[in-house]
Amino acid sequence: MDIKYTTKNGWEAASAEDKQKVYPFCEEYKKFMDSAKTEREAVVKTIELAKANGFKSIDEFATLGHGDKIYINNRDKSVMLVVLGEDSTKGLNIVAAHIDSPRLDLKQNPLYEDTDLALFKTHYYGGIKKYQWTTIPLALHGVVVKGDGSKVNVVIGEDEGDPVFCITDLLPHLAEDQMKKTMREGIAGEGLNILIGSKPATVEKDKVKTAILDLLNQKYGIVEEDFISAELEAVPAAKARDIGFDRSMVGAYGQDDRVCAYTALAGILEVQKPVKTAVCVLADKEEVGSMGNTGMKSRFFEDTIAKILSMEKDGYSDLLLRKTFANSTCLSADVAAAIDPNYKDVSEALNSPKVNHGIVITKYTGSRGKAGSSDASAELVGLIRKLFNDNNVIWQTGELGKVDQGGGGTVAQYIANLNIETIDCGTALLSMHSPFEVAGKMDIYMTYKGYKAFYLMD
Ligand code: MN
Ligand code: MN
Repeated sequence: MDIKYTTKNGWEAASAEDKQKVYPFCEEYKKFMDSAKTEREAVVKTIELAKANGFKSIDEFATLGHGDKIYINNRDKSVMLVVLGEDSTKGLNIVAAHIDSPRLDLKQNPLYEDTDLALFKTHYYGGIKKYQWTTIPLALHGVVVKGDGSKVNVVIGEDEGDPVFCITDLLPHLAEDQMKKTMREGIAGEGLNILIGSKPATVEKDKVKTAILDLLNQKYGIVEEDFISAELEAVPAAKARDIGFDRSMVGAYGQDDRVCAYTALAGILEVQKPVKTAVCVLADKEEVGSMGNTGMKSRFFEDTIAKILSMEKDGYSDLLLRKTFANSTCLSADVAAAIDPNYKDVSEALNSPKVNHGIVITKYTGSRGKAGSSDASAELVGLIRKLFNDNNVIWQTGELGKVDQGGGGTVAQYIANLNIETIDCGTALLSMHSPFEVAGKMDIYMTYKGYKAFYLMD
């Protein structure tokens, strides 16, 4: 081993065999990103891929044994995939990513008309820079539960022939006052209203709104009150694209955290008869604090593992569940912030990840003195470092910006609280939380390779 430590660019350090696999892997990744722009769509796509790879719903099993491949759907918003090892109580190898991303949710009463234009009111979800969401094509995805209880799926703005939607912004000529505001205040939350129509119906008042309601009623059979029991999400309409003359990066909406979700999924799909039970968790609600029954703070995870243990052997007890967690290891699979040459001053060069330098191991997250971080042990960092070195996974370490610059957290702390050894580990991004995030293809591939090696760890 070299006496000095430096990270290496994967395009220089990876084997020829690995380099060949990077671009084809990312073609499949881009397809996934285009078909999974919301947590619900990510669940559908994940289960589709799982079934094609021999996974079955846990409901189809009476008992479970070595090598069984199962998936567990949590309310169509979060999903777990499990490949049974020899004995789950000896510990699980868990990779936990999230499939929700920042976006604009429609309000419960979204539709209104102003100045002969129809608009939707929104409430943004997760941390966004609001100005980034104006003047870009938006698509609408989600579900509407109608008055009779039936559910309609909605996707508008993704097909070539579909219309799209947008949020208007002020022309520079008249933006004298707006341009004096801070970037935080320049676009208000209540200003993120989506333009959806302009053609009046032949009625007395609310002419454009009525015309829109007529169209929605014809196409989806919905009425205005149905919006109240809907979850409609406005997301960027753009597809995942290669970036650069060399096509070495992927630009896409929602790579936080579907890049880790996809690579965690791709890894477990290839796991056969592992020694330890391999678990892939794709959670919802991370961007708003992991709350609710589909978030990582939910008892769903514990309940599911309890169910698996009870199906694996007789004599289930609470102690057995706790023993299982105590023996388990988890990669909290979430993205890291890569150093951006345009904004180098917020990063500390020695400890910030670089694009193409591999999967990022982040010992601690948090902000202002590691607050809110579970801070992985040196022993666990040592274990993962050795695992990646032994398996020729290109890796680097990460920290979320300079100490006083801000920070953030992931699901790591909630899993660590279950008495599970947990560390953050994922792909570095540029423009995180923007409508078009950037990841290096080498890093995407190495994230997959790292997760797969982890699932197979004895
Ligand atoms: Mn994330
Ligand atoms: Mn995030």
